Amino acid sequence: MPNPPLPTAKVNKTGTHAIEARVFKQLENRFKRVLNGMRTYIDGLQFEVMQVNQNFYQYQLDAALINDIDAYIQDLIDDILLDGNERTHLLSDASIQAYENSTADAIRDMEIITEGSYTRSYDSIRLTTPFEDRLIYIGTRAFEDFKGLTGDMKASLSRILTDGMSNGENPNRIASQINKMLFGDKKKGTKGNLARAKRIARTEITGAHRRALWDENFQANQIGVRTGLMHISALIPDRTRKTHAQRHGGIYTRKETEEWYQENGNAVNCLCTQVSVLVDSNGKPTDPNFEDKVKAQRKKFFGVDK
Ligand SMILES: [Zn+2]
Repeated sequence: MPNPPLPTAKVNKTGTHAIEARVFKQLENRFKRVLNGMRTYIDGLQFEVMQVNQNFYQYQLDAALINDIDAYIQDLIDDILLDGNERTHLLSDASIQAYENSTADAIRDMEIITEGSYTRSYDSIRLTTPFEDRLIYIGTRAFEDFKGLTGDMKASLSRILTDGMSNGENPNRIASQINKMLFGDKKKGTKGNLARAKRIARTEITGAHRRALWDENFQANQIGVRTGLMHISALIPDRTRKTHAQRHGGIYTRKETEEWYQENGNAVNCLCTQVSVLVDSNGKPTDPNFEDKVKAQRKKFFGVDK
């Protein structure tokens, strides 16, 4: 029986880079719009400049203004970052697309390794209820994760603005703090909320990609095609986690794979993928040469063969 094709791209093992790049670009644009929205609000604030030791900006920060600030921030973030729903939101849509693409790829691989005898086709499953349910799950996960971030952002924006006002800070200084909160502080080497948004996006998109492979692997097992999941690491020097590279070429069950991803933040920013390979009743590959070939790449990465 033939072996599955291995991902050929050097870094893009998950095949999701195009989707990620599109989402990253949109997140950058949207975060700029959030900053502009905050700038507009700050520019409209009324204050008197008092001379103490240095300039003190006196704002009328009463309960009504605090409420107004919170309502403004809430609308701003919801309009720009949370538009859509569990299906149509930027991150949900991207994750669903990754899941669909990956399912189609997994089925193609199953056809290859079973020499055309695989009975499931993408067209036959893509409109079924179980598949639709998976898409809803994938979209909802991504949306909820992103909502966690926007909730934190609302609280931080409100705090920076009202703290700055009560401390009598110059409006430009308040705006610059908001800029740092959103985009990070290069001088201090701190990352901002945009970096966190991108991390969530990558984690959800690559997670959806892998989940589709695991799900199809499970479906194959259900109809009697005995397969295991071979771990394929991106093997990027100085970037791939050692514990991820060590799994390269190893064959695991779906349960083992899923559990590993739940540990130690393994799913976060992970660029690894899996391919289904045929195994015997002991879970050993039917073609040990293929396993050896992939494991040789791992040895090379760790410099054993040099
Ligand atoms: Zn990884």
